[in-house]
Amino acid sequence: MPQYFMVQLSSSIYNCSSTSTVHKKRENKCGRAKPHFTKTGKQHSRCISPYGLYPHNLTNDKFREECGVFGIFGHPEAANMTYLGLHALQHRGQEGAGICSSDGRQMFIEKSMGLVADIFTEKRLKKLPGYIAIGHNRYSTAGSSSLKNVQPILANFSLGSLAIAHNGNIVNAGDLRESLEDEGAIFQSTSDSEVMVHLIAHSKGENFHDRVIQALKEVNGAFSLVILRENELLAVRDPYGVRPLCIGQVDGAFVIASETCALDLIDAQYIRDVEPGEMVIVNEKGLTSYRALVSEKKAFCIFEFIYFARPDSYIFGGQNVNEIRKSLGRLLAQESGVEADLIVPVPDSGVPAALGYSDESGLPFDFGLIRNHYVGRTFIEPKQSIRHFGVKLKLNPVKKLIEGKRLVVIDDSIVRGTTSKKIVKMLRETGGAKEVHMRISSPPTVMPCFYGIDTPTRQELIASSHSVDEIRKYITADSLAYLSIEGLRSLVKNADDYDYCSACFDNEYPISFPGEHLEQMEFFFT
Ligand code: SF4
Repeated sequence: MPQYFMVQLSSSIYNCSSTSTVHKKRENKCGRAKPHFTKTGKQHSRCISPYGLYPHNLTNDKFREECGVFGIFGHPEAANMTYLGLHALQHRGQEGAGICSSDGRQMFIEKSMGLVADIFTEKRLKKLPGYIAIGHNRYSTAGSSSLKNVQPILANFSLGSLAIAHNGNIVNAGDLRESLEDEGAIFQSTSDSEVMVHLIAHSKGENFHDRVIQALKEVNGAFSLVILRENELLAVRDPYGVRPLCIGQVDGAFVIASETCALDLIDAQYIRDVEPGEMVIVNEKGLTSYRALVSEKKAFCIFEFIYFARPDSYIFGGQNVNEIRKSLGRLLAQESGVEADLIVPVPDSGVPAALGYSDESGLPFDFGLIRNHYVGRTFIEPKQSIRHFGVKLKLNPVKKLIEGKRLVVIDDSIVRGTTSKKIVKMLRETGGAKEVHMRISSPPTVMPCFYGIDTPTRQELIASSHSVDEIRKYITADSLAYLSIEGLRSLVKNADDYDYCSACFDNEYPISFPGEHLEQMEFFFT
């Protein structure tokens, strides 16, 4: 095995003397212009490590969700409904949340770091009157993790006020920001979404709607947006349709949401998706639609089906996520079946695929790993000396079920491999499993994402530089197999109108990005 492989994977300590932009960005995320380690060699307790937001917590070896947006027009309890919608979309972002409402004349905003249920007390919701509201759950894919980056972003400009909530990532945000700053724009946050606010304010369009279209024509990347004005709600989806966005209706009020699970919670009826490139305007006159932005191809994020979206949601033309995940498991069993006694999912995301695998293979399914749901996403291990407890804090094997058995363990993806390695070890040593066969319901993740998902750099993705067998050896599984890319594509609606981005699996990026992102694709820091 190459030497760099061992260094890369056996330690969570990265060389912080690096001056690369990527590294600096990481340092900035923790709010300190310092390396990740103190003079005594200890990692800052609040510093973002290469493992994401949770220092020393190796249980988060996953691509990270993006953001969730919600909007409603024409409901007497608009803010309360938005609160519920955000609650249903909590899986799309847990760093912070905000709601902005309007009573037709004035706009009101409340936002904080934390989870929706903790932020929005009855008292805070009462401060959000009106019949229109938008809301946002944030997970930072661009910009640092701080209150100033929590959305919606509310701003005043020559035509009044506007608030914006964004799911996605603008790949040319750096260049746009630079030219806006050259023209005198002053930014309040480091979020790429604020660029769109400034572009709208600077746009020369005749009216507000023209301004939004003109502004968004300059933007490259993924955006599912809800925009609030004093008396109307807008929803816009980028022309590639990377992130989902749907329209619903409840009690005559129009609702916009990232996923249909947010409609279900408020008893809203799903009407249709906001189409790629479409701008929807909802005001006193009802709902109007414009084909605002055009692209030759579409690029729905295929990873939404594998991991990001909630299983009960219907996305990208009404496809149920749970059904797709189960069919991924079925196909995985066809492609790489193995003699075994029990199918065990890595909870929770591996469950539907494991059910499908069990259906297809005829092997029994059981919860041989139990997840502790109360560890919390902000869990921080107090000392490096107990780092090896990382996975155990979240998952524990059920010895009675798995002892002496040959297991097929189903997970949705392997990112760095660190968690898989610990799971295999735990199943053998604590659970007494006889054999552990890992099956992954997606192809190997070989490239980072630039369209709104927080992914590690290419060098941290184990599959970017190692064969399946090398990964198997590293995680110490008896066998390892991934779903094929052809198999994955065959299971999603793939007519002419349904094209998908699968760049993190096949390196085919549908939306070009400027050079600043290339660093993330390098193997080593310079
Ligand atoms: S690169 Fe992967 S995660 Fe990103 S949009 Fe494409 S499929 Fe989704």
